[in-house]
Amino acid sequence: MKGKYAIAIHGGAGTITRKSMTSEKETAYREVLAAALASGEAVLQQGDSAVSAVEAAVRYMEDSELFNAGRGAVFTHEGTHEMDASIMDGKGRRAGAVAGVESVKNPIALSRAVMDHSDHVFLIGKGAEDFAALNGIESVHPSYFSTKFRKEQLMKIRDSHVTQLDHSDDSLKKHGTVGAVALDTNGNLAAATSTGGITNKRYARVGDTPVIGSGTYAENGVCAISSTGWGEYFLRAVAAYDVAALMKYGKLSLDEAARKVIFEHIAPMGGDGGFIAIDSEGRISMPFNTEGMFECSIRLPSPEAER
Ligand code: ASP
Repeated sequence: MKGKYAIAIHGGAGTITRKSMTSEKETAYREVLAAALASGEAVLQQGDSAVSAVEAAVRYMEDSELFNAGRGAVFTHEGTHEMDASIMDGKGRRAGAVAGVESVKNPIALSRAVMDHSDHVFLIGKGAEDFAALNGIESVHPSYFSTKFRKEQLMKIRDSHVTQLDHSDDSLKKHGTVGAVALDTNGNLAAATSTGGITNKRYARVGDTPVIGSGTYAENGVCAISSTGWGEYFLRAVAAYDVAALMKYGKLSLDEAARKVIFEHIAPMGGDGGFIAIDSEGRISMPFNTEGMFECSIRLPSPEAER
């Protein structure tokens, strides 16, 4: 394992719907994904940690208005933005998470600060914002997150009781969360996930993204997982940890475990979405049961070179 590295990222499941995607739009998404992957890979190439690589890749996507995280976060019913994120270092199973933050430019950077500089795992709302200020995490005026496209998405459904996952035409099948998983040259695994949640959400709704074990999980020697999809189902299925448990106790391979959770656990419950998943050999699996999922990955040396 030493010397190998691998990284995979996603920009949400359900994002590629043939009806809504023009080729220009698809190119724009692919360009940001490729640049985000490259920013994570650069960290790994320098011999730096998997956790820094996943943070860099997710941060890059948070700064793009195309994805439902950071800058492009969807609107709540009240016309605000409430963002959730989490990060986990497989080395020592350290983790940091935040929910309901409204003015933190990069919620993933705040999750990292919670992991590195607090005795806690999960901070929410105003307390998380106060912690951000104390730790020099950049904040912005909430209007930074208000993009035209997201406003239109809210306006279409604001007066209904429908909440909407990001991007697809089916109101209940829109996801646009971002995430990354990586293996570094020292054999460490890490995962990170960030989202604006779902359009028109109310009552401080929080999905799976900031919940360790559902939206994000990493454990050295086993796997690292980042989820995207209908958060309520990923929460109820404890989805990310379920993959790890199937590998640890059930001795399934990464791909067998990841596919089992999506197709045999989440789908029969009525949920949809996908994972990006990586194991300690750098093998990658990216199953989804939505129409599409924006993802890309790199593994060095390549699987062909190892044969
Ligand atoms: N899982 C996210 C949530 O439910 C949404 C997504 O993946 O787009 O908040």
